[in-house]
Amino acid sequence: MNIEHIENRARSGVLAVRWSDGSEHAFTHADLRAACPCSGCRALRLAGVAIEAPDTLRLTVIEPAGTNALNLGFSDGHARGIYPFAMLANLAAALC
Ligand SMILES: [Zn+2]
Repeated sequence: MNIEHIENRARSGVLAVRWSDGSEHAFTHADLRAACPCSGCRALRLAGVAIEAPDTLRLTVIEPAGTNALNLGFSDGHARGIYPFAMLANLAAALC
């Protein structure tokens, strides 16, 4: 699924995404940080280590990564995660 529109609500810590089928999902910045798909965070999750993602955490970087992924960076300085649209769609379904 493609992303048609992204709106970052920095104050409330929400990234609202509209998909190509017209549906929308509002991710909290903390949920996105906790789901970071970079190799380091994947290794932590596999080891059973919870990733620290307090509600006060904010997105600081939102950049396209190719044509079907986003590079997201956070206020804790972590900016290694490339979030494919398909992964975000799965995350949205899991959080619903
Ligand atoms: Zn990560």
